[in-house]
Amino acid sequence: MEVAASAEMPRRRNVAVRRVALGLALVGWLVAAYTLLDTVVPDDLALPAVDVQATFGRDLVHDAKAYERVPLLLWVLTQITLVVTFWIYARRGAVMTRESAAGPIGTGMLLGMLGLALTWAVQLPFGLAGLWWDRRHDVSKVSYLEWALGGWAELTASFISICVALLIVMALARAIGEWWWIPGAAVFVGIAFVFAATAPWLTSDLHHPSNDPRLIETYDRLAAAEHVHGVPLEIEDVSGDTSQANAYAFGVAGTQQIVLWDTLLDGRFSDGEVAVVLAHELGHHASGHIAEALEWFALFAFPGAWALMRVTRRRGGMGTPEAVPLALLVITLFTLASSPLQNWISRRMESEADWRALATTRDPASARQLFEGFSQTSLGDPSPPTWAYLLLSTHPTLAQRVAMVEAWEKKTASSP
Ligand SMILES: [Zn+2]
Repeated sequence: MEVAASAEMPRRRNVAVRRVALGLALVGWLVAAYTLLDTVVPDDLALPAVDVQATFGRDLVHDAKAYERVPLLLWVLTQITLVVTFWIYARRGAVMTRESAAGPIGTGMLLGMLGLALTWAVQLPFGLAGLWWDRRHDVSKVSYLEWALGGWAELTASFISICVALLIVMALARAIGEWWWIPGAAVFVGIAFVFAATAPWLTSDLHHPSNDPRLIETYDRLAAAEHVHGVPLEIEDVSGDTSQANAYAFGVAGTQQIVLWDTLLDGRFSDGEVAVVLAHELGHHASGHIAEALEWFALFAFPGAWALMRVTRRRGGMGTPEAVPLALLVITLFTLASSPLQNWISRRMESEADWRALATTRDPASARQLFEGFSQTSLGDPSPPTWAYLLLSTHPTLAQRVAMVEAWEKKTASSP
């Protein structure tokens, strides 16, 4: 009895230490998440109901819904196919490890690349169908050849990424065992930071500075109003590939840039609307959203890596190649399951940028016109089905964005 009791003591203490560590980690996670969720949008802001048919036009709403049906269906089919493919691969893929002479990490990389190639092949028909549909609806002007070449470049980049990721994880797991998930997640956060910081430089061939003095003057005025300094404005020429209008803010820690698609400047959008877009993108930098996105990535990477460690245990852990096919399934499921939360976070940031744009431009008429214009140029459904909104919408719906314009007008009218 005595011997059993003394052997029991350290194990109990171990369990207690683990529980305290887990509790502290959970509290830290919640505090960090709570701090990141703070935005300049007033907490008491109530979005009014928007009459979608009256605002966007009955025909346009009908056309947008008819168009979006197919991309949504293709998305669902792609996700189901991906999960089924990885599920089968997780059950059967490990067999191939016995025939490999590439060493454990080399075999793991081969299994990773094989998994990617499989998903690329099974997604191909859905991608082709999507392109056919987009071309039919004049949403895309990309040719099938350009699409195939672009897909090839993307696949190559994915091959390299998965090999690097597996090399890091498997080497760490073989060196330090189950605790790989802590340095592993940290390394991925570091890589994400490097990519975010170098993205403007990596893509510098794709965009160029503006040579329109009026646009630059507007941009400088808005940037000063939002206290954003030293962030260059760039133009990306996409009008050969698409008629859709877009803009983005990227870069972090001193490399920030704002890029406008030239489709925004072809005369379809008024100066006031372009100013709203600029103010929205500046709003992302004014709020430090790229850094916030990286912090969120860290908040998901650690529990994600921990889950990966736990699930792959029964295949010998991430140090063994047999675990790789299962890891691909786990990552796919984790990404899918966390997408409603990730989209909700993204929508909060987008709302904040919209709010800053309204406060800076004080031109609600142009903002409203812009959001109505977006549904025309991209055939975007102003109020998509709820499931699609939760799983796919990284931005508030166009109806919600118009509602925010109205809420801003009401709030400004009522406050002195
Ligand atoms: Zn945005």
